[in-house]
Amino acid sequence: MPRLTPAFRPFAARARGTTIAIVLTFALVSTLSSGLSIWMTGRSKHRAAVIEIAARQRTLAERYVEELLLVRSGRTADPVQTGKLLSQSANALLDGGLAPAVNGDDDAATLPAEHEPLVRGQLEQEAKLVTDLTRTGSAFLAGRSIAGLPETGSEHIHVADPLQRLRILAALTSNISLNASRTIASRADRDISNLIMLQVGLGVGGLFLSLLLAWALVTATRRQTAHFRSLVTSSTDLVLVFGAGGCRYVSQSVVSMLGRSEPDLLGSGFARFVHEADRDAVATAALDGQPQELVMRVLTAFGEWRDLEAHLTDLRGDRHVHGVVMNARDITERIRLEHELTRQAQRDNFGAQLTEALEMADEEDAAYDVVQRAMVEVAATAPMELLLSDSSRAQLSRAAASPTGGAPGCPVQSPFSCVAVRRGNPVVFETSRALNACPHLRDRPDGACSAACVPVTFMGRALGVLHATGPDNEPLAPEQVAQLTSLATQAGARIGTVRAFQKTQLQAATDGLTGLINRRTLETRVRELTAQHTPFALVLADLDRFKQLNDTHGHEAGDRALRLFSQVVHGVVRGEDIVARFGGEEFVVVLPGLDEGQAVNVLERLRTALGKAHTGDHPAFTASFGVTDSSHGSNLDEILRVADQGLYVSKQTGRDRITIGKPGSAPANGGASNGARFAGEDGRRDDAPLQPAVASGGRPALHDAADEGDPRPSGVEIR
Ligand code: GH3
Ligand code: MG
Ligand code: MG
Repeated sequence: MPRLTPAFRPFAARARGTTIAIVLTFALVSTLSSGLSIWMTGRSKHRAAVIEIAARQRTLAERYVEELLLVRSGRTADPVQTGKLLSQSANALLDGGLAPAVNGDDDAATLPAEHEPLVRGQLEQEAKLVTDLTRTGSAFLAGRSIAGLPETGSEHIHVADPLQRLRILAALTSNISLNASRTIASRADRDISNLIMLQVGLGVGGLFLSLLLAWALVTATRRQTAHFRSLVTSSTDLVLVFGAGGCRYVSQSVVSMLGRSEPDLLGSGFARFVHEADRDAVATAALDGQPQELVMRVLTAFGEWRDLEAHLTDLRGDRHVHGVVMNARDITERIRLEHELTRQAQRDNFGAQLTEALEMADEEDAAYDVVQRAMVEVAATAPMELLLSDSSRAQLSRAAASPTGGAPGCPVQSPFSCVAVRRGNPVVFETSRALNACPHLRDRPDGACSAACVPVTFMGRALGVLHATGPDNEPLAPEQVAQLTSLATQAGARIGTVRAFQKTQLQAATDGLTGLINRRTLETRVRELTAQHTPFALVLADLDRFKQLNDTHGHEAGDRALRLFSQVVHGVVRGEDIVARFGGEEFVVVLPGLDEGQAVNVLERLRTALGKAHTGDHPAFTASFGVTDSSHGSNLDEILRVADQGLYVSKQTGRDRITIGKPGSAPANGGASNGARFAGEDGRRDDAPLQPAVASGGRPALHDAADEGDPRPSGVEIR
């Protein structure tokens, strides 16, 4: 069975038993002492009477003899009465009872029976002698012979003269009475000595016992005090007592927490370390205990402010305290946590709002707008900017700036010239004058400043930097830097996503080599025009003898030619015109609002521009064109067929020319170019040598392909 440890009860009333024992001891000793004294006094009183009566016997014996002699000489006396008194007194001394009064001498006294053997023996002897004395006296008065009188006291008096015998018996009686009274007196003395000894013993014993109990009481009290002291000193609770003269007591915990000495804190000392804003409230509370609860800040010796939550109790009426007691707890950590949680909540709220706002931004510009508004939320007056790199990631440019604080105007050129981007972490500079400050902060028009720079990344790749400045030596608060970091992270994620999405869209819609829209996009755009009932001219262009160019100058030269051709087309057409790479070295140009005749003019300009575009780097090449307009078909395929027919004729009739397609007359052997587009057949195969480009300055000539005898397919050829 496990041993039960007694519960620790520091507040239980202790040593009650000891206190009771002390009181009982005192009561017992006092009672015993008083009882003994009373008893002894009572006894002394009887003893005095006994001694007196015993002493009186002596006188009475002598008086008896003298009265006998007086009577014998004829004078008046009453020896019989005296003899009676002697006998009665002797009996009273021996067995207790009334000792009669003696005339003119003393009063009657009631005596206790004598039990003490020695005294009793003496008194018995005395009684016998008195008997013998009175018998002898009676015989003497009567004149009788004393011979034959019994000797009850075994006194063996061998005299015949009665008077002599009387005198001897009186002397014996007197003697034995004296002895008895002496014995009684000395016994009384001994009793008193004993009583004194007993009382001294009792006193000493009682004192010793009391001292022992008092020691136990002191030990118990000390132990309890030690318990309290341990509880108080080991407690983190801060205890202070205030009185009229200021602080009167500070617990050890206050001394340790503040790191200041006790004398420093007593009197008016403590108030000096209370925050100025809280000092009045603390002073009022210390005077009258009101308010009962307060929170204050105190400055420790280590230069740190601690928050204390104090409870005040007015114990001025308590005679043990006479003051206002302040029990305080250090709540610095709790307050710090509360602030941290509040900041966290604000940050979460800011972050949540930012997330939602950025989610709604489906274009970069919209994301920049969100960033600008968020900048105002972080710090309205602080200059802030978002610097982002271009697609080559070589150049940083400002994408957004704070609408209220303006732009700090960081001169950093490329992402990797920015220390925050290089480190991949936010960097805060307290002052641009510091030795280790970012070089881009120096020599700003507004002078020295503080700054916070947060890298903006997407999937680990640097996109740019979020840059904010502030007054010199007053950088943004950590909380604001945290918000900037959140802003940079989320903006980076959104801008990166938008860019990636746009890139994918662009890739899906355009041709990678020339940057022109691809066939699928063309179909969409033409569908839009058709839906809007916008008339348009459509041109199908095919580079001439391109295979040969590739073979002769290499595929690279072929690619360059394709890009050059697309640039030349772009240089000739209007902004709203649609230029698409249809496939291989074939292009489609849609000219909204133009008819085929107007398109021919545009193409002429194109041919001219193409002729001039060939520089030393580019081998010369030409292109053939088929032209039609939207009036010749209800959809792109139909319109393309017509244009292709024109292109076919251009190819057939020598290339480097423009032919208006003739509706309804498909090329005899399929499409002009690769037939997969329309008829699934390979188009023309003309192995004739490459024709020179159109004769310089040559005017376009109309060729009616439908003319009789002309072997070329029907169509209008423009040269
Ligand atoms: P024609 O005058 O009859 O049109 O003759 P051509 O040689 O241009 O005719 P063809 O259609 O047979 O040849 C087209 C060539 O274009 C075939 C292919 O090698 C080349 N080509 C297609 N796409 C590209 C490209 O992206 N780059 C390069 N360098 N060549 C390409
Ligand atoms: Mg070709
Ligand atoms: Mg071709």
